This record gives sequence, C-alpha cells and structure tokens, in this order.
Amino acid sequence: MNNDYLAWPFFDTFHRTFVRDFWQWAASELPKYEDDDGGDGKAAREIFQRLGIGQWLDNSISRSGGAKGDKLDLRTICLMREILGYRSAIADVAFSEPWLAIMPVALFGSEKVKRELLPRYLRGEMLPAFALSEPDAGSDAASIETRAQLDGDHYVIRGRKTWTSNSGLADVYVVFARTGDVPDATGISAFLVEGRLPGILLEKRVAVLSPHTVGTLHFDNVRVSADRLLGGPGQGFKIAMTVLGLFRPTVGAAALGFARRAMDEAIARSTERVAFKKPICEHQLIQAKLADMAIKVDASALLVYRASWMHDVGESRITREAAIAKLQATEAAQEVVDQALQIFGGLGVAKGMVVERLYRHVRAYRIFDGTSEIQKLIIAKDILQEHRPA
Ligand SMILES: Cc1cc2nc3c(=O)[nH]c(=O)nc-3n(C[C@H](O)[C@H](O)[C@H](O)COP(=O)(O)OP(=O)(O)OC[C@H]3O[C@@H](n4cnc5c(N)ncnc54)[C@H](O)[C@@H]3O)c2cc1C
Repeated sequence: MNNDYLAWPFFDTFHRTFVRDFWQWAASELPKYEDDDGGDGKAAREIFQRLGIGQWLDNSISRSGGAKGDKLDLRTICLMREILGYRSAIADVAFSEPWLAIMPVALFGSEKVKRELLPRYLRGEMLPAFALSEPDAGSDAASIETRAQLDGDHYVIRGRKTWTSNSGLADVYVVFARTGDVPDATGISAFLVEGRLPGILLEKRVAVLSPHTVGTLHFDNVRVSADRLLGGPGQGFKIAMTVLGLFRPTVGAAALGFARRAMDEAIARSTERVAFKKPICEHQLIQAKLADMAIKVDASALLVYRASWMHDVGESRITREAAIAKLQATEAAQEVVDQALQIFGGLGVAKGMVVERLYRHVRAYRIFDGTSEIQKLIIAKDILQEHRPA
C-alpha cells in the first residue's frame, strides 16, 4: 500500500510512526488468520487478544492509553482500521466491534466503571459488545422496545436485541433499553450488562457474507445493579448517537482499506494478464477503470481524514462530515472492489481470491452504523438546519 498520503497536513509525526509500526505488526501477525472463520468468532477473539498484548488497544482510547487529559485520537483509529481492512476483514471486525462498545464506557462511564473495565479491555481480556438494534428497530433506533424496570436497587431488563456483534461471546454488553414511560428517544438509557448474567439467551446466530459473528439475544428478566446505568437515566440515545457518530469515519476508513487493497490487486493483475497480445493494463478501457478507482480512493481518504482531523482538533460537531465520510468511502469501496474483480475476469469470482473476499466483505459496511440512505438523511438535515431562517 502506498503511504504517501501520510504527508497530508491532517497527520503529524505520531501518526507516521504509528503507521510504520502497526504495518509491521499487521504484516507479521495477521497472515496467520483465515478471513472467513466459520462465524464462531474464535479467530476474531484471538486477534483482539493479540491487539491487547501488543498494546495496540491503548491507542484506541487515546494516544497514551487513557492517561488523564489525553483525548481520543480519531485519526489513529481510522489509520488502524484502514490498515486492518487492507490486510484482513476479520482483523478489522475483531478490533472495531469491541471498540464501538467500549466507547460508551470511555466517554460516559463513571471513574469507578472506567477503572474496572478499561484496563481489562486494553489488555484484550474483556470483550465488549454493543446491543442497540432490535428485530423491529434498526434504522429507527429511537423506537426500540427493550425495557428496563427499576426494582429496588436493580433494573430488570426484558427484550430482544438483534445483529449484536459478538453475541453469545461478549463479556459485557452495552444494552440500550427504555426506562420510564416516555415513548421517544429521551426515554432510552444505556446499561452495562455482564455476559454471564442469568437470563441472557443466545436465540440464534445469523451467518452473513462477512466475518461478523452476529446474532439475536433474548434478555429474559436480566437483573443488573442500578449502578450499571451509564451516564444517567434517559441518556442512552445520546450515548448511542455520539459513539455511532464517532464510528462513522472509522467505518469509512476500513472500507478505504478494502478499496486500496482491491486496487493494488487489480494493478498487479492488469500488468501480468495478457489479452490481445498485450498486458491488459495497456488497453484504454482498463486504464479508465484504474483512473476511476484512484479518484474514488483519494476522495474517500480526503473525506475520512478530514472528518477525523476535525474531531481531533476540537470541532464540537462533525455530524455532517462523519456521515459524508462514511457514505462516500463505503459506496466508493463497493464500486472499486467491483471494478477490481472485473479486471480479474473469471478468476475474480473464484473462491479464495482476494477480490472475491473483498467483494463479499465490503457489502455490510454500507448497512451498519446507519445505512447509506440514513447517512443521506443526516447530511440533508444538517444542511437544512444551517439554512433555516433565524
Ligand atoms: C454485519 C452487521 C453487524 C452489525 N452489528 C451490530 C451491532 O454490533 N450492534 C447493533 O446494535 N446493531 C448491529 N447491526 C445492525 C445495523 O446497525 C442495522 O442493520 C442497520 O442500522 C439497519 O437496520 P435494519 O437492518 O433493521 O434495516 P431497516 O431499518 O429495516 O431498513 C431497511 C431499508 O430501509 C431503508 N430505510 C429505513 N428508513 C428509511 C428512511 N427514513 N428513508 C429511506 N430509507 C430508509 C434502509 O436504508 C434500508 O435500506 C449490524 C448489522 C450488520 C449487517
């Protein structure tokens, strides 16, 4: 992968050194893992543990592993996900799903909860999962129906969560549930729920195109201590939207990694494969494809790193920029991977080829963390808000 873009003004010396070191780690550790792990989550868990042992998870909280006053550096997360996406989809899943789930703790947890959970997460010993979506509430997350009823000094959680990554495997779930009778987003709270508690049942696993271990969980009268409430009653929707907003540029970054890999594969193949007595890269229609891919990759990178840079330099809101980055980079990656596969001809659809895997793995990225349609609604709402008469 060409790292010339690290000279862009979005980055500083920390990022350049980080990329050099993380590349080396990824190149030596990740080839041991198959990208399609059979959906049992074992390989992903092992990669997560290795990220902890290598102290790479420290960078996922801040530049110095959560030292006081040191903030989350979103560019580092994006660089990590881009490299992981380039090398291995399962490694990206292994890192990113727990990261989404630890962010509510890192950003909204009490000092006591942070002291308890963050060190275990940083060592790769505690796998967290994010449980928001339900069978009848995906894009419209404010309409979730799972309830948490106060009973003395405990809450009793009842309901179903679906598409939960690492379902049945996680040590802790961040569960979003309704407290009180308010029917809208302000009635939602977030809870930390230990995975081993009685009443948490894995109803089913759903096999998907990518190496995500997703499933449906039933919370059947699960009792959690009232001090496991994150951020206070009614703060759940705000917590979910804040971390999903931060996740967006990083999803784009992983898709960017897929796109860069597809492009590298396509360039190599196009210089080797001969048709009509010359390498296919000498045919202008193949050159047009390579040019289109390069434009899409550059546009995605600029938007992903603009959004993450804005966060890191202290912009209070990056709602629109994060949605633009996620939408552009995931849609563009799908197109780049498709073009790369086309350049491989029949070989492109052969099982086990890198482009075949990328073709399957990139697809879900246009769906989770808000579908492409939902990103457009977020972007349009933000534009219209700005132009509303005072
Ligand atoms: C691999 C994978 C991993 C996931 N991991 C997690 C996880 O760890 N935790 C978690 O909580 N969830 C997770 N999800 C769930 C994911 O966030 C949802 O799938 C996503 O939000 C979409 O919800 P839905 O599937 O219910 O689709 P729906 O909301 O039913 O949408 C169906 C279609 O309608 C469109 N649509 C909906 N509303 C509108 C509208 N207003 N205007 C125009 N179009 C609209 C959507 O864009 C989509 O095309 C995961 C999903 C996948 C596929």
